[in-house]
Amino acid sequence: MTTHTQETSVQESERAWLEQAIRLAAGSVADGGGPFGALVAKDGEVVAIGNNQVTATLDPVAHAEVSAMRAACKALDTFSLEGCVLITSCEPCPMCLSAALWARVDRVVYAADRHDAAVAGFDDRKFYDLFEKKPASMWPMSVHRLDLPNRTAPFDAWLAKSDRIDY
Ligand SMILES: [Zn+2]
Repeated sequence: MTTHTQETSVQESERAWLEQAIRLAAGSVADGGGPFGALVAKDGEVVAIGNNQVTATLDPVAHAEVSAMRAACKALDTFSLEGCVLITSCEPCPMCLSAALWARVDRVVYAADRHDAAVAGFDDRKFYDLFEKKPASMWPMSVHRLDLPNRTAPFDAWLAKSDRIDY
């Protein structure tokens, strides 16, 4: 059972980490990156930090959360961030939220939200609206399926592989 004191100290450390993520985000702007910062913490310690590096590295998926989670996996030598908290200066976009699910992060904590990001000219809210309110047929990007007879061959090979590492 979690005691009230434990919960209070968790909240206090998460608040401090969130302040750190906001400082990382502000620092990112000063360094020519996007205004986003994130970190991954485990067992009360910061494992890795990250900032937005989209324009710096010509990588459209180098969001702060992705950068922090990649660095955390390297630091922990694993592909699973089970038991970790992702702390981010802004609400994760749908991609980063999915990435956090894939990484098996326990918990996500953020400060600014998608509406704050929209004011600054970022598409987070627009993409959320696409996922939540519009069928894919109405998206500006077409997503099309070709039904090929061998479409499940990679999965068949995967399931037949006895030494596969499930993730
Ligand atoms: Zn993102």
